[in-house]
Amino acid sequence: MPFENLIAGGWVAGAQYGLNRNPSNPDDIIGEFAQADSAQLDIAVAAALKAFPQWSTGPIQTRSDALDRIGSEILSRKEELATLLAREEGKTRKEALGEVTRAGHIFRFFAGECLRLSGEVLPSVRPGVGVEITREPVGVVGIVTPWNFPIAIPAWKIAPALAFGNCVVFKPADLVPASAWALAEIIHRSGIRAGVFNLVMGRGSVIGDPLVTHPGIAAVSFTGSVDVGRRIALQCAEHGKKVQLEMGGKNPQVILDDADLNVAVELSAQSAFFSTGQRCTASSRLIVTENIHDRFVQALTERMALLRIGDALAEGTDIGPAASESQLHQNLQYIEIARAEGAELVAGGDRVACHTGSGKPGYFVAPTLFTHTGPDMRINREEVFGPVASVIRVTDYEEALAIANDTEFGLSAGIATTSLKYATHFKRHAQAGMVMVNLPTAGVDYHVPFGGRKNSSYGPREQGRYAQEFFTTVKTAYVAS
Ligand code: NAP
Repeated sequence: MPFENLIAGGWVAGAQYGLNRNPSNPDDIIGEFAQADSAQLDIAVAAALKAFPQWSTGPIQTRSDALDRIGSEILSRKEELATLLAREEGKTRKEALGEVTRAGHIFRFFAGECLRLSGEVLPSVRPGVGVEITREPVGVVGIVTPWNFPIAIPAWKIAPALAFGNCVVFKPADLVPASAWALAEIIHRSGIRAGVFNLVMGRGSVIGDPLVTHPGIAAVSFTGSVDVGRRIALQCAEHGKKVQLEMGGKNPQVILDDADLNVAVELSAQSAFFSTGQRCTASSRLIVTENIHDRFVQALTERMALLRIGDALAEGTDIGPAASESQLHQNLQYIEIARAEGAELVAGGDRVACHTGSGKPGYFVAPTLFTHTGPDMRINREEVFGPVASVIRVTDYEEALAIANDTEFGLSAGIATTSLKYATHFKRHAQAGMVMVNLPTAGVDYHVPFGGRKNSSYGPREQGRYAQEFFTTVKTAYVAS
């Protein structure tokens, strides 16, 4: 049975349909998913606009209860949802379980946040006048998400949007509609009014573009690539919309001579290769000082040899497939680019012939490590978005920091060191939105701000109480007393 869009409180057949495939086993069809057209988008936005007055001014207990029900249902169905997520995106079941759990916690966190929205009361500079500063919902929010976190990223945008009284039109990545549909179904069953939340599945060029420019959409929250993000920012500026962008990364992991070798190796393996490297916070540049360099490369290579690559759903798999055939080809292309640039391949470098079904092989690529790379090589400047990392050898901390910051991106940055002096200096001087000391660059909490600098992010931060900055607008009221 095909999976339909959720528009104006009902399930609506698609203008057309697309097939969703399992990247571990492309013969496994997960389902047929509706793709909306711009006429259906118009209906979704109109329904959201109609629902907005009541949702935005109604009791906050209603909103809090709905978000709590959504979070609780996600958590109670986490095993089933994790299986679906791993089957459609290719991260391992264990990683998928972590993502689903996080999505549930995010909804429960924002169930509380909508009760905590506060304002300020100030004396005026004029006698007999009081000043009140309050936050109000923005309106109908367009949410556009990528394929690599198909439930957590939608959750961390939809939950605050609803919590603070906005209505939502949500377009997930076309590659991963199943997790989005499952989330939409849970939101629908929470009992929120028709039109408050709408799901429009389909391609970015077909449905994403008209969503961003639609006159009924007051704000756009986007996560994805820099190219698409920039285009959306320009469109939003032109149409006077609020915009929030989370984009790519080329995150550095610095390893100093005084690092605990086991810690450095484990966190590097985690950051670079887990989730098949398909994380905006993955570290793909391992910047290593010279006295630990050879020992580190040797130990990391040994650790990589223990990583089990295979079906995302199989027990014991450490690294699942690339999420799509085109992502697999992008990984292999960058491996060729690095070789051509003169980098030395010390591990991986190939597609892994791993048949998990009877027909087409899955999109598996071996975790890959290059040494003898320079900071100006393309492999160290462009986001690969796969299990490919390169080592840059440096003489000391100062050179490591300079290279860590020498990038157009600024999402996450990590350091492995036992020195309080260097850890403290790095925390202050790494040009990134998130800094990790003796921890992987990937892996973040759901109750604190998430985001970066430079080309990684644009606009207010996501998550935690900082989310209210984007999903509310400030009003200053003057009252004669
Ligand atoms: P993408 O190609 O930019 O797509 C992201 C979303 O934008 C998808 O839903 C896509 O739709 C849609 N889209 C494409 N063209 C559009 C248009 N013209 N107008 C409106 N929407 C449009 O990115 P991706 O390949 O899915 O995701 C990978 C990227 O996301 C990486 O660069 C990664 O670093 C980044 N990312 C960043 C963060 C962060 O928080 N900083 C987190 C996760 C991922 P379709 O795909 O359906 O066509």
